[in-house]
Amino acid sequence: MDCIFCKIINKELNSEILYEDNKMIIIKDIYPKANIHYLAIPKKHISTHMDIDYNDQELMGYIHLVINKFTKEKGINSYKLVMNCGYEAGQRVFHIHFHILSGQKFGEV
Ligand code: 5GP
Ligand code: ZN
Repeated sequence: MDCIFCKIINKELNSEILYEDNKMIIIKDIYPKANIHYLAIPKKHISTHMDIDYNDQELMGYIHLVINKFTKEKGINSYKLVMNCGYEAGQRVFHIHFHILSGQKFGEV
């Protein structure tokens, strides 16, 4: 499958992996849009937020718990969690991921 994040997960493409288990990875964003910019990515290829299925409930909850643990371990106590859904919303990689943005002050949305 021609998917950048699947390639990163399969180690066909290089990236700075900060966390990995059997369900997900957390990497540094290659073009950071904030002082701290990580991407939390499930290993399962799901194209967009709208494609998340009831079978993915446990996985989606799990990702949040790992982000929770990961940010705590990094000493991050304030962050913006973003998932773009669809091209108009700014999604460019069609394999779902949460942006973890921190290290600065953000606007209200
Ligand atoms: P989206 O626009 O789909 O919500 O977010 C995609 C993100 O992936 C962008 O912030 C972009 O900088 C990042 N990105 C794209 N290609 C790569 C890559 O090859 N490696 C890493 N680490 N990040 C990438
Ligand atoms: Zn993928």
